[in-house]
Amino acid sequence: MAFDAEVIRAEFPILGRQVNGRPLVYLDSAASAQKPRAVIEAMTRAMEHSYANVHRGLHTLANETTEAYEGARSKIAAFIGAEAPEIVFTKGATEAINLVASGLGAALRPGDEILLSEMEHHANIVPWHFLRERQGVVLKFTPVTDDGRLDMEAFKELLSERTRVVALTHMSNVLGTVNPVAELTRLAHEAGAIVLLDGCQAVVHRAIDVKALDADFYVFSGHKLYGPTGIGALYGKSERLASLRPYQGGGEMIGKVTLEEITYADPPHRFEAGTPPILEAIGLGAAIDWLGGLDRAAVAEHEHGLYTHVRERLNGANWLRVLGEAPGKGAILSFTVDGAHAHDVAQILDKYGVAVRAGTHCAEPLMRRFGLTSSARASFALYNTHEEADAFVDALTKTQAFFA
Ligand code: PLP
Repeated sequence: MAFDAEVIRAEFPILGRQVNGRPLVYLDSAASAQKPRAVIEAMTRAMEHSYANVHRGLHTLANETTEAYEGARSKIAAFIGAEAPEIVFTKGATEAINLVASGLGAALRPGDEILLSEMEHHANIVPWHFLRERQGVVLKFTPVTDDGRLDMEAFKELLSERTRVVALTHMSNVLGTVNPVAELTRLAHEAGAIVLLDGCQAVVHRAIDVKALDADFYVFSGHKLYGPTGIGALYGKSERLASLRPYQGGGEMIGKVTLEEITYADPPHRFEAGTPPILEAIGLGAAIDWLGGLDRAAVAEHEHGLYTHVRERLNGANWLRVLGEAPGKGAILSFTVDGAHAHDVAQILDKYGVAVRAGTHCAEPLMRRFGLTSSARASFALYNTHEEADAFVDALTKTQAFFA
């Protein structure tokens, strides 16, 4: 299957717009990706044609909507090599990690250790800090090397018989580093720890097989995967989900409720209290169907080509500092410009129609590791073109001139 970014981008209505009188160059997809017509139309179609609350109805619309909602679960499961009952719908990766941390917390004791890394997003730090504050568990952080790799030797040393949970990102949202998660999971399991992988960025750029990775939990958000906001997925091995304490209480997650006691539904519904994000689940299912029609290896090659093109063109720029040069890294360029605050860089780039992110990228410990308070970040997606990559480099070069 050939891949042509020009053809693909025509499926994204928003990419045709102008910003500040220039064609939009959207390089903020690692924060949230734009949506193809297939997703927009699937959600609109559901609202216009077949919509009701799920699971509880005995009428046609309720049954059709339930089928669409549960169908989306099956699509997500197939997408990452799981079974449908192993997929819990959540609001996003953040909620998924909170759900797991809260559920596992019941079994953790003061002094138990949780091993993370310095390159985690706050979503994979703060929920574990809750357990530190509330229950006295000890957090350990695997250091990051100067070129942005996870320090494997340090990881092995930090693992111990006290390590109960290892929670790591599959791909860094700042450095673009792709961690050797199968190997890390194997080592963690050997030490007897439960493994959670944050697949928010990785799932967008590579095929995921949770069974091959052998992770106990794998989480991601829909909105970075060309789907809508408000929906994400938690994969959990059946036995892990079954032993997890419920996260929220309410309708749909129970077996029986009396004034004296309650029983719980089986996973995944045990973790989906209340009316779920039905339309969003349908939208994510449509995004996955849409991605299924693409040659994902060709997409990855295209994205990598954009990154290397930009990197090569900026090679001689002695005013540029790039964060993360790990071999095999993904198409994310985090950088600082000498003498300029990252926010100013982003605002000037915006005048040229170029959208990049600036700030801590919800990774303050990582920023601190590199002696920074902020950086700018250009992230490349399947709909970006070489022309846009050039527009970015040209705009960045002009931006730098303001500060020279
Ligand atoms: N983990 C990583 C690596 C991310 O990049 C993000 C979002 O930027 C998150 C977790 C949190 O995702 P969300 O805000 O969709 O829950």
